[in-house]
Amino acid sequence: MALPTLTHPTGASTPREANLLTHRTQPRIAVIGGSLTGCTAALLLLHAGFDQIAVYEAAPHSAPRGGGLIGLEHPALDILDRLGIGQNEIVAYTSETVWQVTVRARQPIHTAQQVYPGRNTTWTLLHHALTSRLPDALLHTGRRFTRLDVRHGQPTLTFADGSHEPADLVVFADGRSSVGRRLFDPHRRLRYAGYTAHRGQTTAENTTLRDFLRLEPPRCQYNVAPIPGGLDWTFYLPCSPTAYAHHFGAPPERRVFALPQHVGPAARTHVDEHAARLLPAPHAATVHATTERMAVPVMDIDAPTRMAWPVGHGWAVLLGDALAPVRPHTARGANNGIEQAAGLSAALTHHHRHRADLSAALHAWQRRHLPGAISAVQQGPVLAAHLGLSNP
Ligand SMILES: Cc1cc2nc3c(=O)[nH]c(=O)nc-3n(C[C@H](O)[C@H](O)[C@H](O)COP(=O)(O)OP(=O)(O)OC[C@H]3O[C@@H](n4cnc5c(N)ncnc54)[C@H](O)[C@@H]3O)c2cc1C
Repeated sequence: MALPTLTHPTGASTPREANLLTHRTQPRIAVIGGSLTGCTAALLLLHAGFDQIAVYEAAPHSAPRGGGLIGLEHPALDILDRLGIGQNEIVAYTSETVWQVTVRARQPIHTAQQVYPGRNTTWTLLHHALTSRLPDALLHTGRRFTRLDVRHGQPTLTFADGSHEPADLVVFADGRSSVGRRLFDPHRRLRYAGYTAHRGQTTAENTTLRDFLRLEPPRCQYNVAPIPGGLDWTFYLPCSPTAYAHHFGAPPERRVFALPQHVGPAARTHVDEHAARLLPAPHAATVHATTERMAVPVMDIDAPTRMAWPVGHGWAVLLGDALAPVRPHTARGANNGIEQAAGLSAALTHHHRHRADLSAALHAWQRRHLPGAISAVQQGPVLAAHLGLSNP
């Protein structure tokens, strides 16, 4: 994928300029990215009474999209509940139990029971719940944002098709390879952590598994849990950058998601061989029988120091994985994105409805949510080192 053309739009903003969102009856809010964080942010803003919202999603409407198991803690579940997205819609299995099993020579040698303070959903269930509540006219699929300029003080977006849109606030929720992050925080680059999360979804309807099961053989981790229609598993395995490129057709920094069409025979063999060598036989058989596979290279990034930037007369903010992609073991990525989106909606509401100073509101929002993002970024390598999955 060619890198987007970027100009650096950040301009000094006077307090008067920074409050210009109140001068319109409704600020124009552009959300870049229509996955979990972007759609949650848009829906929260819509519920708060903002009606000039547009979500721009690069993937075409027709592109097959779906994803695996995501654990959401109580604060995120509560935010979704307030949007009318109840657990009856997004949680297929209500177990809070996590079985953590130490495995040696393919046999369980120690089992500990834990309680997860939340529930498991899937990307597919949650994304459907969010998008089905967004008015069609608001979600623009197949619109890849490429560039941000300031024209006569007005932040102006440019898209891959050459079209332009003005906005007062740009919410970057464009994920791990965020264009917004490259624009506003260009020194924070993704670094491959040396191992990959291989993922699979089975269609084994007859599974008896109801809880989340975490197996820990030496230097790897295998998580499996029930989802509607089968099982969802994630197998973390060390993998050199060269091997990753061989398995998935591009280096980890370029292929930050390996979709089913990128998973070639070499990747399948690599995962099946490790499953046969490391996992108890029934789990190795589950992996072997799985046809639908994906992979995500585990990445690190320097901790963020900022979430909001003035742009001409408007603002830009980074949310979710765009702000800080965190290692999956932390189970915090989607939680952080949802909580940050709710905080942003509160700050904007108080500015717009009650004339609160926007700059102060955004700085307070940043002060509240940065520590959570920083702690998740820092927690990832610690958890991985405990599993023997540190950088090679
Ligand atoms: C194995 C695994 C397990 C995980 N488990 C958990 C868990 O238990 N709990 C948890 O909280 N999190 C978990 N996560 C993390 C979670 O999945 C992510 O943090 C979350 O999905 C990020 O959502 P997002 O909307 O911020 O970014 P993304 O889902 O990456 O979405 C970004 C969107 O922006 C679009 N986009 C990108 N560039 C552009 C552009 N230029 N113009 C327009 N659109 C663009 C993309 O197409 C995409 O739709 C896990 C992740 C993995 C890999």
